[in-house]
Amino acid sequence: MRVYPKFLLSALAPEQFPQPSAPEVAFLGRSNVGKSSMINALLGSDEARVSQTPGRTRAINFFAIADSPTRQQPRWIFADLPGYGYAKISKSISAEWPSFIDPYLTNRETLALCICLVDSNIPVQRSDAQLIEFLTSVGRPFLVVGTKADRLSGNARVKAEKTLREGLGIERMLLCSAETGRGINEVWAEINAVKA
Ligand code: GDP
Repeated sequence: MRVYPKFLLSALAPEQFPQPSAPEVAFLGRSNVGKSSMINALLGSDEARVSQTPGRTRAINFFAIADSPTRQQPRWIFADLPGYGYAKISKSISAEWPSFIDPYLTNRETLALCICLVDSNIPVQRSDAQLIEFLTSVGRPFLVVGTKADRLSGNARVKAEKTLREGLGIERMLLCSAETGRGINEVWAEINAVKA
């Protein structure tokens, strides 16, 4: 899928969010899960690197994604959320999260899909399970994507997926690799299915 991304802005408070326009796809995950790599693999560009510049890691970084080089109106807005899970002992993910994240996930009108990234090489993390619980409780559609699947052999992949699905209490998920491109088309298929 060829798309034309443009960095919009970094928001540190709800007043700074862009005017709701196109359907929004939010990317969430623990720090180091491979979120920027995944966004870059989806966009076919280095656009998400911008979110790693100092000062932007605690912000929501918004990108306008057009599906034609000439169209003004974006087809989607991508929202790259701050990574969570730094703290060793975490009572809740929101304890480490900037206070505007939960309201964003709860109230943002145009938020159509949350893509929750989990590392497919490690057991279920409490903070990931808490995020899924939270999204379920507020009724936000989400898709769980296991990252770095290139590190797993065929058998280990099947096992990892089963363990993660059971641990997170979900019916289905995708396994992907930003390195090899595995699963990237499947993620696009889910984003494409998001209603305008
Ligand atoms: P972020 O903090 O979630 O944005 O994570 P990054 O995208 O910066 O990736 C964190 C680390 O994981 C980096 O060292 C990446 O090279 C590595 N990584 C990211 N995606 C993959 C992947 O698909 N496969 C492998 N093997 N490593 C990956």
